[in-house]
Order: sequence, then C-alpha cells, then structure tokens
Amino acid sequence: MFRTLDQADVRGKRVLVRVDLNVPAENGKITDATRIERVAPTIREIADKGGKVILLSHFGRPKRPDPTQSLKLVVPALADVLKRPVAFVEDCIGERAAAAVNAMKPGDILCLENTRFHPGEERNDPVFVAQLAELGDLFVNDAFSAAHRAHASVEGIARRLPSYAGRSMQHELEALTNVLHTPMRPLAAIVGGAKVSTKLDLLGNLLANVDILIIGGGMANTFLAARGYSVGKSLCEHDLLPTARDILDKAAAKGREVVLPVDAVVAKTFAANAPSRVVAVDTVAADDMILDIGPRSIEHVCSVLARVKTLVWNGPFGAFELEPFDIGTVEIAEAAAELTAAGKIVTVAGGGDTVAALNAAGAADRFTYVSTAGGAFLEWLEGKTLPGVEVLKIR
Ligand code: AMP
Repeated sequence: MFRTLDQADVRGKRVLVRVDLNVPAENGKITDATRIERVAPTIREIADKGGKVILLSHFGRPKRPDPTQSLKLVVPALADVLKRPVAFVEDCIGERAAAAVNAMKPGDILCLENTRFHPGEERNDPVFVAQLAELGDLFVNDAFSAAHRAHASVEGIARRLPSYAGRSMQHELEALTNVLHTPMRPLAAIVGGAKVSTKLDLLGNLLANVDILIIGGGMANTFLAARGYSVGKSLCEHDLLPTARDILDKAAAKGREVVLPVDAVVAKTFAANAPSRVVAVDTVAADDMILDIGPRSIEHVCSVLARVKTLVWNGPFGAFELEPFDIGTVEIAEAAAELTAAGKIVTVAGGGDTVAALNAAGAADRFTYVSTAGGAFLEWLEGKTLPGVEVLKIR
C-alpha cells in the first residue's frame, strides 16, 4: 500500500513532483512526447487543486552542467502538452531555485534544471537531498521509470518529505501488482528476446509466479539445444545449456508448463527478406539460422493464450526488426490484443524492444497496460525491490 494524490492536501503547498522528462531529442527538438503525456494528468491535478507544482527530473546522463542536456529544451514541449505556461529556473537547488519557488502562486508550474547537473543526485548525497527538500512541503513521485535508481530526487527526498505516488506511478504499480501478485489464473508469461544470459533473474522470478512459461526469440534456441536439438548457426548460448536444463528441470518439479517452439522460420543470412523456409525444430540444418517461430508454434501459443486469464510479456518471438521475421510476434500480439479487447484476458507488457514490437504490430493500445519504464519494469519482473517504490510504501 502506498499513499496517492487522494491523500495529499496540496492546496497552497509547494509540491516537488519527480517526473521523467528524459524524452528523446534530436538537434534540440523533442521527437517523442509520450513521457510528458503520461505525467500531464498528475501535474494538472495538483495545479488545479491549488498546489504549486515544482518539477524535478533528470535528462540524459550528464556528469556536470551541460547546456545540451538542459531541461530548458523540454519546457516548450511540456507547456505544449499541458496547454499551460511552465516557468524554468537554471538550477534545481540554491538561491536561484529558492527565489523562483518563492515567486510562485497556487496553480503555477515551475520546472527546475536537470538534477544530474549535481553529482549528489546519483550519489543520493544527504546534503543535496536536504537542499532539494528545502524547496518543497510535499513530494510526489510520478516517475516509475526512474524508481529502480536510489537517487536523491527519487529515494532520498521521499525520506525527508511527506511522499505520495502520482497518478502515472499509481497506475503502473496497480497494473504490475495485478499481474504478478494478485493475478487471475492461469497466469502465463512470454519471455522472448535475444539471450538467456540477460534474463536469468527474470526467468527465475517468473518460474516462481507463473503457471505457464512461454519461451520465444533467440533465447528459445538455447532451450532447444538444451533439449538436444541442433540449432545450426542460430543465436545460441552454448555455455548456458546446463543453466537452461536446470530451468527446465525446476519448471517440471514445480509443475509449471513450459512452451517452446515446435517449428521455426530459418534463413541462411541475418537480413530482411532473406530467403526463408519453415522447418520442424528437429530438422534445422547446420547452416540454418532460426529467425522466427513457425506457424504451428504460433497456433500453439495462441491456443495457450485462449485458456489463460492473465499474460505478462517481455521480448519478441523473433528478429522482429527484419521482415518477414516479425510474423510470429505480430500474430501473437494481435491474438493477445483481441482477447484483451474481448475482456477475456488481462495483458501487461513492457521492456525496451517489447514496446517497439507491440507498437509495430499495432497491438499496444489494446493491451491492458504497456509499461514504457524499460529498466524499472524489468527489475520489477525480476522480483527486485525498487528503491523509489519501497520508500513510498505506508509502513
Ligand atoms: P531483448 O532486448 O533481449 O528483448 O532482445 C530483443 C532482440 O532479440 C531483438 O533485437 C530481436 O531481433 C532479437 N531476436 C529475437 N529472436 C531472435 C532470433 N531468433 N535470432 C536473432 N535475434 C533474435
């Protein structure tokens, strides 16, 4: 349980709001305002309730003040999305920041400069935390995507001020809790993507929670090899065969169902439109590369989805950036989206490439929840505690 804006009395108060304004930019122009759109409801709500909204965010990875990574560049896009004026001040602590805050009236919005211009941010330095905390009466965290970092504007400050989850943070936490902690069962997980080695913690945590584990993408090759199939020239981590076997054994011991591909789309080269054919997984030739799952596997996965109530998805089924090796991912995404739209399953997806793959498949907006939080979403799927979330919990 954590406090939300429902419990916050913001009227007339100075409200420090941690947002994620780390938006993609090219030549000083914002190319994607999704992250701004996600935090806009929280900002508007606090302003409409008469709070003074003081925005805190990082932008890029500067180690010192750097005009190319100034949040000043983001302010016009912020004002544009909010349809309200947004003031800016060239520091996030000290006299200038204090003067700008003192000049605010209820309902005003002020964006402070990039918190990472100060080394104390990433070090969670208590002196820097105190300097930030001086500027506010309350703290609202609406940046789930930064919650895996124990940084000053995420974690330290929440220990100093009465703290609340913003609406976007609240929404994300509710969606994630619903799928892994209190899901409607059966619960299935799709884990795809390139390598087993980057997803060992994730597989371990999912095995503990899910009823059915569906493995796709390059990492399925390692599992197929572990089961004794030859995977030719496919991406495969041969040194991890014992690990993959161990995961399969543990799954069997726990009575979990593991779904692996039964057929594959193979090509001789890793390139878009490379000549390809469908083969059963026991007939992959020595010079073949598995680049997608085959039609029988797609059918099998869809039949599994038809009998589950909840799905969590990370990672594509194939090399989806290269046509036509996106077909497995696209067709399964479409099936999951349709089942969701029909109210038959709850679907939560996230993690870097997964969002891109589901967007490309035109399925993302029909999923129950698509997390754009990247690293924080993955750490949560791995069962890790997120410092920025822990500190918001009511004890
Ligand atoms: P990840 O970041 O671990 O989720 O991996 C995503 C990447 O895995 C994408 O760039 C895909 O192209 C890649 N991938 C998925 N399946 C395969 C495959 N069978 N062979 C090579 N790469 C793959």
